[in-house]
Amino acid sequence: MISMLKIFNTLTKKKEVFSSIIPGIVNIYVCGVTVHDLCHIGHARTFIIFDIIIRYFNFKGYRVNYIRNITDIEDKIIYQSIKNNETISMFTNRMISEMHKDFSLLHILCPNKEPRMTEYINEIIKFIMGLLQKKFAYISDDGDVMFAISSYTKYGMLSHQDFTKFHLNYSRNIHSQKKYNFMDFVLWKISRYNEFGWPSPWGHGRPGWHIGCSTMSISQLGCHFDIHGGGSDLIFPHHENEIAQSVSLYGSPYVNVWIHIGLVTMRKKKISKSLQNFLTLRNIMKFYDWEVIRYFLISAHYRKPLEYTESSLNNACISLNRLYISLLGMNKNVIPLDNSKHYLKKFCIAMNDDFNVSKAFSILFDISHQINKLKVDDFKKAQEMAARLRQLAKVLGLLQQDPEIFLRKENIKKMQKHGNEIEMLIQERNRARAFQKWGLADKIRKNLSDIGIILEDTEHGTIWRR
Ligand SMILES: [Zn+2]
Repeated sequence: MISMLKIFNTLTKKKEVFSSIIPGIVNIYVCGVTVHDLCHIGHARTFIIFDIIIRYFNFKGYRVNYIRNITDIEDKIIYQSIKNNETISMFTNRMISEMHKDFSLLHILCPNKEPRMTEYINEIIKFIMGLLQKKFAYISDDGDVMFAISSYTKYGMLSHQDFTKFHLNYSRNIHSQKKYNFMDFVLWKISRYNEFGWPSPWGHGRPGWHIGCSTMSISQLGCHFDIHGGGSDLIFPHHENEIAQSVSLYGSPYVNVWIHIGLVTMRKKKISKSLQNFLTLRNIMKFYDWEVIRYFLISAHYRKPLEYTESSLNNACISLNRLYISLLGMNKNVIPLDNSKHYLKKFCIAMNDDFNVSKAFSILFDISHQINKLKVDDFKKAQEMAARLRQLAKVLGLLQQDPEIFLRKENIKKMQKHGNEIEMLIQERNRARAFQKWGLADKIRKNLSDIGIILEDTEHGTIWRR
C-alpha cells in the first residue's frame, strides 16, 4: 500500500487524507466558464489542474463523476449578445463551441456532464422558494430575492473571515422589507429594463450566479458530495455563498473538500481586461504546442499564483524537449515492467502529497536520465523504462505525441519565432552531406554546436535543440 492521498482543503486550511463518501467513487463539481468571451490562460490553468486531478483519481482506480458547469446567463453575456446583435443562445452556443475547441486542443478531458444554468431555471426557482419558506431569504424593496447572510451563522467559514459583527448589527431587521446587509446577495434578479429572463413567482427575471452553482451541483451530485473546486478568486464570495444557501436549505454538510487553483498573473497582477485578448488560449497556441502550455501551467504548485512570462514557456519547452529526446527511437507498444516499479511508487508518493506535480516531474526526469544511459548499455531495459515514463507522464496528460513529430513541430515553431537562419544552415549541411562534402557538413555542425545548437539526424529529417 502506497501512502494515502492527502488534499489541501480550503475549508480547514489543512492537508487531509482523502476518503470518498461512497468507496471507490469520487463525486466532484468544478465551477466552469462564464461564457461571455474566449477562454484565457487562467481558465486553462484551472481546468488543466482539475484534468490532472481527475486523471490521477482514475489512475488510482476510482470511478470519477466529474461535473463542470457552464454559466450561460449573466450581465456580461446579455451585454455582449446585444453588442453583437445576436440572441443570447446564439451567442452562448458560439462561445461554448469555441471553449470546447480550445479545451480539446489542450487535451483536457471532457467532464461526465456539463450542465448549463439556463437548463436549471425550474430547479433554481424551487431552491429559492425553499429558502424563502425557511426565512433564509427575503424580497427586497426593489423586488429582487436576496439571501440574508445574517441567517447563516457560519457565514465566512470557507474564506476564514469573521462576519459576526454584521449578524449583530443586522439580524434585528430580519422581518422588515429592507435589504438588511450590504453583504446579502441576490438569488433572483428582477428584469427592470425588459432584459432577457424567465417568469417566476417574484416576477420576470433571472437567477443570480451563486444559486445556479448550488442548484446544478446538488441536482447532479446530491446535497453532500466529495469535492468542489474552482479558481481561487471564487472562494469569496461565490463559494462562500454557495455553502450558505445549500447548507441552509438542506442542512447537510454540502461539500467535504474544497480545492482552489491559484491565478495566472502577469507582472504580478491578475490578468486584466486589457491583457485578456493577448492571453487568450487562441493566441498562445499559435506559438506553443499544447503540451508546452500544459507543462508550463502545471509547473508551479497549483495553489500558488503562476506568473506568465515568455521565458517560463520557453523553459517548459526545453524541459519537454529533454523528455521527448529520451523517448526518441523507443517502441511505443512496450509496457512497463516490475523493474521500474519503484518509480511508480515514488510518483504516487509525490502525487499523494496534495498533487505535488513538481516532485512528480523530478521523477520523470530521473527516468528520462536512466533511459539515456540505458540506450547505450541495455536497450531492452531502456525500452521498458521509456514505457514507464510514458505511463506516468500520461497521468499529467504529457508525452502523448510521437517524439519525432513533437520535436519537429517545436523546430518549426522555433523557426517562426527566431527566424530561419538555423534551418538554412541545416539545409546547407544536408546539401553538403548529399554531395558527400563531409568536411563542410562537419564544419556547419561544429559552428552550430559552438553557439549551443545540437543537431539530431532522424529518419524524418534533422532536428535541432539548444
Ligand atoms: Zn460556481
